[in-house]
Amino acid sequence: MWLVDLLLPGRCAACGREGPAICPECLGALGEIRPPLCARCGAPTAWPVERCRECAGRRLAFARARSAVAYEGSAVQLVLAWKDGGRRALARVAAAAVAGAVERPAVEAITYVPAARARELWRGHNTAAALAAELSRVWELPVAPVLDRVAESRPQRGLRLAERRRNVAGAFVARGIVPSSVALCDDVYTSGATVAAAASALRRVGAARVEVVTFARALRGGGLRGRS
Ligand SMILES: [Zn+2]
Ligand SMILES: [Zn+2]
Repeated sequence: MWLVDLLLPGRCAACGREGPAICPECLGALGEIRPPLCARCGAPTAWPVERCRECAGRRLAFARARSAVAYEGSAVQLVLAWKDGGRRALARVAAAAVAGAVERPAVEAITYVPAARARELWRGHNTAAALAAELSRVWELPVAPVLDRVAESRPQRGLRLAERRRNVAGAFVARGIVPSSVALCDDVYTSGATVAAAASALRRVGAARVEVVTFARALRGGGLRGRS
């Protein structure tokens, strides 16, 4: 289905060229994240490790995190157009990238990081929810919209890691029937602070296992990316 969408006239979200929602060149330029990875947080590493420099010593409420592409180059442009530009068709592009790069999580349902109310209203859509909806079709998992924001946190952009953690700590609450194993969707994994806070809300009400899935992932330290 998403291929049909890509054939409709429009503009490439990354380079602005007239044509599909993302042109073949920019699609090909997305840096797919490939093993070896940190088993826990999914950061590309030089060899397979259980915990990496980025996540060692951190209490993470999720069992593992996996992402499709590196958050750089055309992926940044794509997320900007999708999230702030309201280009909803890009949810399918993102979901296709995730389905191609990330193994289907062995979970009962899929949920997503809820958008901050004010920002969601302004944009009129939530990219994490859209990604979860697309992936629920691909992976044949029901969507369980169980997370809610209890605090209006500041945007995470521009904050340091410790500030990011403080900013989102206690920001989420899970309501209703929460599956015992659940995939948690978001558009971008930056420091992991947001998904860790959301995962801990799920764990508090009985989810035994939370697997994080995002379209893009910010890479630290550069270089080690699993692709030459
Ligand atoms: Zn392009
Ligand atoms: Zn790690």
